[in-house]
Amino acid sequence: MTSSSTAQPAADAPLSIGALAVTRHLLAHGPATRGDLGDLLRVSSASMSRLARALVEEGLVAENAEPVPGVGRPRQILSVVPGARHVAGCKITGNRAYGVVCDMLGDVKATAQAALPARRADGSVPVAATVRVLTQLVTRLGRRVPSLDGIGVSLGGVVSDRSVVHEGTFLGWRDVDLATPLRERTGLPVVITNDVTALAREQLWFGAGRTHATFGVITVGAGLGFGVVREGHVVEQLIDNGHLLAHAPLDNHGPRCGIGHPGCVAAYLNRDDLESHASALAGAPVTLAGLIERKAAGDDTATTLIDNAARALGHLAATFAGALQTTRIVLAGEDIDTFAASPAMTETVADRLRAGSDETQRCRLDITVAPSSFHGWARGAAVTGIQHVLGAV
Ligand SMILES: [Zn+2]
Repeated sequence: MTSSSTAQPAADAPLSIGALAVTRHLLAHGPATRGDLGDLLRVSSASMSRLARALVEEGLVAENAEPVPGVGRPRQILSVVPGARHVAGCKITGNRAYGVVCDMLGDVKATAQAALPARRADGSVPVAATVRVLTQLVTRLGRRVPSLDGIGVSLGGVVSDRSVVHEGTFLGWRDVDLATPLRERTGLPVVITNDVTALAREQLWFGAGRTHATFGVITVGAGLGFGVVREGHVVEQLIDNGHLLAHAPLDNHGPRCGIGHPGCVAAYLNRDDLESHASALAGAPVTLAGLIERKAAGDDTATTLIDNAARALGHLAATFAGALQTTRIVLAGEDIDTFAASPAMTETVADRLRAGSDETQRCRLDITVAPSSFHGWARGAAVTGIQHVLGAV
């Protein structure tokens, strides 16, 4: 392809900053007029017309006339074309890959899943065979839409440069470049992210980010995870992988977490720690599912353990909100419903917010639970992939 200063970018080239801002606004807030977009994004009407024309020519945005009652001239409304891009998102756990394919609006068009290869003698999951599984999964998903424009993969652990799995918590991986072989096999742009970061990215465009520029995401499942969005930007890599929040002390006389802190948040809330304390008290192995059943049957010990976990979650959410200076926290993860449903969580948050008699400032936290299926996680990966394909950082 030849290029000149007036040529349009190639179909999958990243958008200009202005075009991306327009697209992002339309995706997050729905259709709008050129005039309203220009005002909101502080762009002159001449520049707005140029951006709109470029986006329409690229097929990302449609402009349709909307009749205005009582006025002769219809309004021109810009909206995103949902099928302009399709991206596959894959969430990798310790033994399976869950895939979805999403359109521009993050709507799921198809789902699929596959088992990961058996672990090696050293406990790690073979990388090359995993790349083959992911390639096959993406190929299956790609058949369900006109064409694929990119791939997003998310997993638990530390990811650097949006491509290298520095620490794959559930896979036994260290410094594994996952993006390069996947890109070579599929010919598509690939982005690799931490799974909670991917959820934060999805929330930024299609959830909490619609109303809050700063918010936090807490996930509770196989480990505690944290996502941070500050002033509209997702923090790509946490300085401590969430360690400081997960191991914040709550009760010096409480049970010990896996690394020996007495009564830290993880000691109560982390699934492995909770199960090991429940098992020690019962004198036999107890899973979280078993604990939930016992609570439902009226077992006092199970009720106390789950309520204590919910209390730890309330403290965690309150501390996170205070440190981040936001009123918005999103909860997610496989185990979250069990703890978020306990009144102990909301009571703890309310108590943390209770003002002293001389205090005039009142604060309210907006804490909600996001859908937490594995395909929901994969949707986070797909939305990260859409943002990557469009050139968002
Ligand atoms: Zn701890």
